Parts: sequence; C-alpha cells; structure tokens
Amino acid sequence: MIDFKNTQIAFEAKTNTDLQRAKFLFNSIKHPWIVKLGKCFVYVTTKLRLPVAWVLKPTIYKQFVGGETLKKCTPLANQLAKYNLKCIFDYSAEGGENADDIQQTFDEFISSIDYAKGNDNVAYAVFKPTALTTDALLEKASAKAELTDDEKKEFEEFKNRFEKLCQRASDNDVRILVDAEDYCFQDAIDEFTDEMMRKFNKKRAIVFTTFQMYRHDRMPYLDRLYNDAVKNDYTVGMKFVRGAYMEKERERAKQFGYTDPICPTKQATDENYNNGLRYVIEHIEKFEVFAGTHNEESNRVLADLIDTHNLAHDDKRIFFSQLYGMSDNLSYNLAHEGYNVAKYIPYAPVKKVLPYLIRRAEENTAIAGQTTRELELIKTEIRRRKRDKK
Ligand SMILES: Cc1cc2nc3c(=O)[nH]c(=O)nc-3n(C[C@H](O)[C@H](O)[C@H](O)COP(=O)(O)OP(=O)(O)OC[C@H]3O[C@@H](n4cnc5c(N)ncnc54)[C@H](O)[C@@H]3O)c2cc1C
Repeated sequence: MIDFKNTQIAFEAKTNTDLQRAKFLFNSIKHPWIVKLGKCFVYVTTKLRLPVAWVLKPTIYKQFVGGETLKKCTPLANQLAKYNLKCIFDYSAEGGENADDIQQTFDEFISSIDYAKGNDNVAYAVFKPTALTTDALLEKASAKAELTDDEKKEFEEFKNRFEKLCQRASDNDVRILVDAEDYCFQDAIDEFTDEMMRKFNKKRAIVFTTFQMYRHDRMPYLDRLYNDAVKNDYTVGMKFVRGAYMEKERERAKQFGYTDPICPTKQATDENYNNGLRYVIEHIEKFEVFAGTHNEESNRVLADLIDTHNLAHDDKRIFFSQLYGMSDNLSYNLAHEGYNVAKYIPYAPVKKVLPYLIRRAEENTAIAGQTTRELELIKTEIRRRKRDKK
C-alpha cells in the first residue's frame, strides 16, 4: 500500500532552507488573524502603490507560485521532471473585465498552450472561462435570461475565444482543462464545454470539463455525459475537484432563495467525489480522468481503482494532481510509485497574483487540518534529517 507519510520521498527536492521557509509560512497562515492582517497589508500597500514584492516574493509567492512568466518557470519544470512529476501552468493573474484585459489574458492562455506543445514536462494547458468575458454576461447567459443584441454579440465573442483556445490545443495535441468557478456562471460554461468535447474529443480527450463534486447534481450529469459520449462517439475529458467556493455558494443560495447547490455535509461531498472516480474508472473506455485533490482518501481510492481494474499505473488516461506548494507527500509518493502526477503551477507577476495568494492563505486557514497536516509533515522531515545526520 502506498505510504503517503513517507516524508523522505515527499520532500526529496527540498533543501533544508526550503523546509524552514515552508515551516515558517504554514506556522503563520494557520492563524486566521495573521491572514487577515496580511490581507489588510496587501490592500493598503497596493492602494498606496507601495512595493510589496520584496516581502511576498521570498515567502508566500515562492511557496505557491512558479514564477512571473512561462520562461521563468522552465527551471522548475525541469526540476520536477527529475521526480517524475509533470506541470500544468496556470496563468493566475486576476485582471479586469475591459477588452484590453480580456485580450491580454487570452493571449497568455494561447502562449501557455504553445508552450505545452511537444513539451514532455507539461501534462495539460488550462484556462478560466470567466477571464474571457464579464461575470454579468456569464451569469445572465447561465440563467437563460433574454440577452440584448449587444449581449448576444458579446456572448458570441466569448464562445469564439473559448473555441479558439480548444482549437489551438487540438492543433498542438495538447490536452486543455476548463476550470470551474461560481455556480451562477457554470451552466453556460458547462454547456459550451460539452459542445467543445463533442467537437474536439473524437480521437482522444483534448478538452476537459471540470466537475465540482461538492455539487449534489453532478453524478446524474456524469451519467448523461457518458451516454452522450457513447451516442456521439467521443471521449469525455473529466477533471474532478471538490469545489472552492462553498461558503460563498451557500450564502448566495440563501440570499436569492434557491436550493443550496452544495452537498449538505463534508462526508456527502467526499462520497460524491469518490463515487465519481469509481464511475469513470468503471467506464474508462469513454473517459480520461484528472483528479485534482489534496484528500488522501480520494487519492488512495483512485490508486486502488487503478490496481483493481488492472490498469497500468502510468495509464495515459489517468492523472492525479495537486497545487504547487501543497500536499507534496501525495504528489511525490504517487509519482514514486509510477502514477501520473501533475503539479498545478500558477504563474504571473507578483501584483497580479495577489488575489490567488490571498485565497491560498485563506484556504489553508479555513480547511480543517490542511495546514496542520502540512506542518506536521514538514516537521517530521526536519527531525528525520537531523536524526540521520547524527
Ligand atoms: C489540481 C487542482 C485543481 C483545482 N481546480 C479547481 C477548479 O477548477 N475549480 C474549483 O472550484 N476548485 C478547484 N480546486 C480546488 C478544490 O476544489 C478544493 O477547494 C481543494 O482542492 C480542497 O479540496 P480537496 O479535495 O483537496 O480535499 P479536502 O480538504 O478533503 O476537502 C475540502 C473541500 O470539501 C468540501 N467541503 C468542506 N466542508 C464541507 C461541508 N461542510 N459540506 C460540503 N462540502 C464540504 C469543499 O469543497 C472543500 O473545499 C482545485 C484543486 C486542485 C488540487
């Protein structure tokens, strides 16, 4: 059985200094008040246009971000390759919604697809559909509200950009993940992603939809997708995550008086996630699977399913994935056992990636046990190295 507590393997790429930095960081962000203070500090310094890079770059940025540009991330990709780990470079700048911002982000998505072409170190490209248009439009389209003529034109432009990214990925033979975000945007995104899968996934999965398994309506949808793939002869690209917006979604549902889309309990989400994994492995002839999770049990469930279905550990259709800077005990130990693993690596200049960094800090504070787990593993490895040196 795979040992996720093997810290020697988990941290073999880390120097003692890296470990001390990570220990300091996780020790700090386990306190909600420090995260709140950090958020205020970042807000004030950016408002006053004061430099923040000097304090963030060697600390939280270094832990969770690959670099400012794709080119600057290349040494990291080469280093991870030594440990059988692939990369997914995620342009994580959170820009505005004007035409220039949208165009600039779109161009960067194209660059990341080109960067992945024929690059053995890169497993997938990725993009956020919400970066291709305005939130207001996606929300309206998802609610099936009547669009004005201008909005219809804007929506066509959105679909046009979306399709161009899928087309470029297909031309380059690069698999592309379509990230999922808020519930209120998701119907329009799902519908178009399904269309793209029907178009581009004839020979193999190029386009991957994302299912947030904290949603209680995803299993019936999974079944519908499978039947559609059988009927229309294509492969479903399926990225599973639990979902990152639970509190916001619950509040919004309450505020607007619709049924909460999220499973009632953590256990229900966990069961839903693992049932999704079981379903796709049982129907693997019509799926390619990407399991994005830091949950030890779910990683184990997938590893066991691969074994019980007599699939090769490195079956090209199945990938595990964790965010860069988190859960290396899962990534490195899985890769060590020959499974396909990719680290999700955000990149962008410091200023543009601030909202992402704040979310990472908040998530590590909010998800019970996440930071404690990271800290315990880091401390164990520091102790092990000291002991073995004696
Ligand atoms: C590679 C990768 C890619 C990702 N891409 C996306 C993406 O495109 N879209 C996105 O939304 N997120 C994405 N995420 C984040 C992901 O959705 C989770 O927020 C995060 O990974 C924590 O969940 P977990 O599976 O790692 O494990 P855990 O820590 O075991 O689970 C925590 C999650 O369980 C759920 N949960 C917690 N409490 C409850 C409760 N009381 N009731 C119901 N459910 C509960 C929530 O979803 C919470 O985030 C990604 C994560 C990874 C690793």
